[in-house]
Parts: sequence; structure tokens; C-alpha cells
Amino acid sequence: MTKRVAFAIAAALALPAALAAEPAQTAQPAQTITVLQCARMLDAAAGKMLGPTTLVIEGKRIKEIRPGADPKPSQDAAAATGANVHVAIMADATCLPGLIDSHTHLTGETSPTGYTDQFRWNVADYAIRSTVYARRTLLAGFTTVRNVGDQANESIALRNAINAGIVPGPRIFTAGKAIGTTGGHADPTDGYRSDLAGDPGPKDGIINNVDDAYKAIRQHYKDGVDVIKIMPSGGVLDESSSADNAQMTIEEIKAIVSAAHDYGFTVAAHAHGAEAIRRAVLGGVDSIEHGTFMNDEDMKLMKEHGTWYVPTIIAGKYVQEMAAKPGYYPPQVAAKAMQVGPIIQATAGKAYKAGVKIAFGTDAAVYPHGQNAKEFEYMVQAGMPPMFVLQAATTHAAELLHKQDQLGQIAVGRVADVIAVPGNPLDDITVMQKVEFVMKEGTIYKESGRPAM
Ligand SMILES: [Zn+2]
Repeated sequence: MTKRVAFAIAAALALPAALAAEPAQTAQPAQTITVLQCARMLDAAAGKMLGPTTLVIEGKRIKEIRPGADPKPSQDAAAATGANVHVAIMADATCLPGLIDSHTHLTGETSPTGYTDQFRWNVADYAIRSTVYARRTLLAGFTTVRNVGDQANESIALRNAINAGIVPGPRIFTAGKAIGTTGGHADPTDGYRSDLAGDPGPKDGIINNVDDAYKAIRQHYKDGVDVIKIMPSGGVLDESSSADNAQMTIEEIKAIVSAAHDYGFTVAAHAHGAEAIRRAVLGGVDSIEHGTFMNDEDMKLMKEHGTWYVPTIIAGKYVQEMAAKPGYYPPQVAAKAMQVGPIIQATAGKAYKAGVKIAFGTDAAVYPHGQNAKEFEYMVQAGMPPMFVLQAATTHAAELLHKQDQLGQIAVGRVADVIAVPGNPLDDITVMQKVEFVMKEGTIYKESGRPAM
């Protein structure tokens, strides 16, 4: 019934558009051209900060990049074509490519009632809230995210709604529900009393052998994911006893990677413990997430295999802070948060020095959405140069997504994802937390520090 109504509406909408397309040259609405005047522009690919630069955006793409901050020539040229021209002047602001967060969970958020909410909330409750978190993330300057785990594939619906222009949010590459093993970090029934716990299987993202691994990946393909997330080690925010034990065999990881790569999916591996990291790298995963107890051997292996590291320092710091508040987490979780939280930042610094490839990621949801850019400050504190951390959230993260030819750079012909921050982030990285302009695919979502939608 509902389906038939939806088809009828779609058909009704499609009809006038088809008719309007008939007399091609007449009645075309005037194109809007946006001219951005930037005091500085980050050339992320070259690792250079350019001086005054003018960007011309037509439709969804970058049409022109000119040195100098005089918008007049572009304005005149655009006006001559009869287009509407919008000029955004960003005095003393730096324009950067739209930022990429390689590790978010847009359909949930930390809360002291989070552990009981899961017994009362339906998937729809998470989905509705996710639209608010997505908007907040976009307004913080993140035009793309890799979403690495939800409850029941509701992030796929969020991605589709954003792509259809129904709700504002970042471009999402989602893993759907994370894949793990029985009793492990992705088991949705950890800590439940036995008659409620059931026995989740590969269809629910829980595998216990090689055959299950293939089934789980193929199910994810059917469900419509873009990437795969696995849990080869214990984690902090579940009610099992270890944050870092190894929870998958190398054979299981190899099967996951082999199946995932068949479908063109990259594999992100949540791993805190050194042994779990070693197995994940040898199993062929594309990235290690968190990597808390990564040792020298792991770093060496990651360099050999070209494995990315996504540190998520902010998540470690936030859980440590919350664990000190009585009752915020169940006791088991608080103990693990105290163990893992303080370590990640130092590990990230060591991995940078060792030459491990690093992409920016935060574990948004573990801390409140929208604060993603604090990670830049924590990365710099860990010893990474400001230019490196900006590349981690642009060119590096795009490479991890296998989208380096489309995302992570401001260049002629590319999709127009552009943000601006006041001042120069190379002098003060905290300005990344004060994003005042956001454009995604040529549409302005924030201007002069205020939401434009
Ligand atoms: Zn996570």
C-alpha cells in the first residue's frame, strides 16, 4: 500500500520535469556561481599553504582557482553568462578541502543512560537522532565520514537520505553493523541475561569460522554497505572483561579480507591489543583503529604492509574523563576506559615517528558529535606537525577510502567540498574547532559562522 503511494508520487513528480526538459533552451533557471575569496588556501596534495586565493564554484564542482583575493574578474565573467553570482569574502580566513573523519558512529551518542536505552529504543529512535548528529558533524567542517558501525544498518538509511538531499549531513561511507565474534566487541547482546542474549550469527555480524566470515560479508554487500568494519580485539564500551584480547583468528580475518576485497570493500579493524593488531595486519586489513597497545613489531609490520593507522585520541581522552564520574559507565567499562584511555595519544606519537601511515579519525559518538576537530589539537600535542594532521584529514583519509581522485583536495574539476577557518591553522591548530564556512558539493551549509540551513 505504502509502496504504491510512493510510486504514484514519484511518477507525478517525474512528469513535469520530463515535460520541462522538452524546450531545452527556454526557461532554464539561471545558474548560481559562487566566488570564494580566501586569505589563504591549503594545497593538501602539495603540503603547502598558499596565499590569497579566489575559488569559483559552478554547480557541484570547482571551476577555477586563481591566485589573488580579487573576486571582480570572476564576478564579471560569471555575470556575463547571466548567472547569479554569490561572493563569499573570508577575510583573514584559510580555505581547506572539506574534512574527512575516518571513524564515526553517526547513529549513536555517549550518554549515562546509553546502556539501558538499548532496551527501550527501537532502530527508529537511533535513526531520528542520527539526523541531528549528521548536521552537527557537517557544520563542524566534516563533509565526508567513514561510519564504522551502527546498531542495525540504520546508517545506510541515513547515507541514502543525505545523498537524496532530504537531510543535511556529510557524505557517508558506511560499514553498517560491525562484524565480530561471539561475546566479543561487536556482539550486541554482551552482558545480557541468558534468556535475552540469544545467539547472534553471521546475518547479525557475528562470525565464528571462515564460512561465517564469507556469509557476513555477502550479507553486508546485500544490505548495501560501502566498507567493512571488524572487531579482532576486545573493546572498551561493552560489558565483557577485556579491552585488548585477540577475538579473531588469522584465518577468520583473512577470509573477511578476501571476501571484502572481492566486493571492492576496504576493511577497518578495531584493535587495541598488540597480538590482535599483528593478526589483523597479517590478515591484510586496510586500517587499524585505536591501536592502543601497538608495539614496535606491529608498527614495522604496518609499514611493510602499507596498513593505515586511525588513532582516535579524542575517544581515549573522553572515556577516561567520563570513567572518573561515578555511574556514567557500568563498572566493567569504567575499568577498561581507565586502562585504555590514557595510552592512545602516546601510541599515536610513536607511530608517527616510526613512519606509520596515519589517517584522521575520532570515534565520534564515544564523545559528543561536532567536537571532531579537537583531534587535530591532540595529534599536534602527540608530536605531529600541523601540516601533517591537516593532510591526515584530507589527502590521507581520501586515500584510505580509495577516493583520492575525488576527495581531499581543492582542485579544478573536483567536487566542491570547501571549508574555511579563521586565521592560519599552521600557526594555531585550535582554529580548526572554529569552522565558519562549509560548502559540500557546491552547496553552502554554513557562512559567516552561522548555519545556512
Ligand atoms: Zn568506533
